[in-house]
Amino acid sequence: MKNYRDDFPILDQTIHGDKSIIYLDSAATSQKPKKVIDSISEYYEQSNANVHRGIHTLAEKATADYESTRERIAKFIGAADPRTLIFTRNTTESINLVAKTWGHANLEAGDLILISEMEHHSNLVPWYVLAEEKNLRIKFIPFGDDWKLDQNTFHQMLKEEPKLLALTHMSNVLGTINPVKQMIADARKAGAVTLIDGAQSVPHLPVNVTDLDADFYAFSAHKMCGPTGIGALYGKRTLLESMPPFLGGGDMIRKVTYSGFTTNELPYKFEAGTPSIAQAIGFGAAVDYLSEIGMDAVFAHEQKLSNYAFEALSDVNGLTLLGPAPSERGAVFSFTLQGIHPHDVAQILDQDGIAVRAGHHCAMPLHEKLHLPATTRASMYLYNSEKDIDLLVEGIHRVKKVFGEA
Ligand code: PMP
Repeated sequence: MKNYRDDFPILDQTIHGDKSIIYLDSAATSQKPKKVIDSISEYYEQSNANVHRGIHTLAEKATADYESTRERIAKFIGAADPRTLIFTRNTTESINLVAKTWGHANLEAGDLILISEMEHHSNLVPWYVLAEEKNLRIKFIPFGDDWKLDQNTFHQMLKEEPKLLALTHMSNVLGTINPVKQMIADARKAGAVTLIDGAQSVPHLPVNVTDLDADFYAFSAHKMCGPTGIGALYGKRTLLESMPPFLGGGDMIRKVTYSGFTTNELPYKFEAGTPSIAQAIGFGAAVDYLSEIGMDAVFAHEQKLSNYAFEALSDVNGLTLLGPAPSERGAVFSFTLQGIHPHDVAQILDQDGIAVRAGHHCAMPLHEKLHLPATTRASMYLYNSEKDIDLLVEGIHRVKKVFGEA
């Protein structure tokens, strides 16, 4: 794959004097290509108006752009009907939407929700909140020493007839890519509805929600070359239609009287108020950008980087790598360095222009299970290269030297 770094203007600058930026924090948020940045300025310069309301030219243009974006994003994830793609603020809001609407309407005291031990707080706390309100039970599908979900335990848990399986497609800490297609099929046989957290998968691998047969699938634009402030929830049409609305206000109604309201059709029923129009336009441009390259090519590039990083990091004395073998993971590498706190690692690497993340990465229970207060995480994307990994490894050696561990 060609080197896409040049498409990202932010990576063109130097920091700390003459240091190029080696951006290895894409699991937190990705950088944005010029095409995406330009699409947002162009929208404000040429089309800005509120959508779905006006009959003037600009309003019609903005509405057409906004809805065409929905069509392209639906196609990008293999959803046949664009009306089943709801714009939200991010993955977190998409999951909360399901918890507050489908969850409220369908779950009752004593019902069981299955989630995994490797969830981001986004796919954990909304279920805790709902469980507290409705007296639900939550069980965690464990992961083993191989960093993979224990399928035997999962099958045992399915015998308890859970009402919901809420699962991440790819872990933002371990990089583990879960066998979601099989797990969705197994859960469905047991009568459960399925929600997949795609925050780390949609940006990095080809995803087809129809093939996966997921009931709900959540993801964020900002991790896939798009702007912050917008994400999406895909849902099966029958489920979305049966759900009560999420937020109330303009756009989500068909009729309002002094005695009540009726809800609008999909997808507007779940999009109250003026939406993030410019962000949606940017989201569409991001999907166009990734589609042009092809998600197979993006994934293949990251697999190559994963292989390379796995070897290179495994060779560093005192470094313990989390997560499975490269064939079963994405290019997210969390690690610890013996005797050195992750925050110190990140701070010293930053002096070399290398951006990594240190902390619990919004997965505190996972870190607690591993008895680790924090880890350092290097996460890659299409603008990274093997050279970046070489520089990361050199940087880690410098960190060790500073701490007298070399
Ligand atoms: N799930 C996973 C697996 C994630 O990595 C993240 C972001 N770190 C989220 C959910 C939440 O995404 P957002 O902050 O965009 O809502």
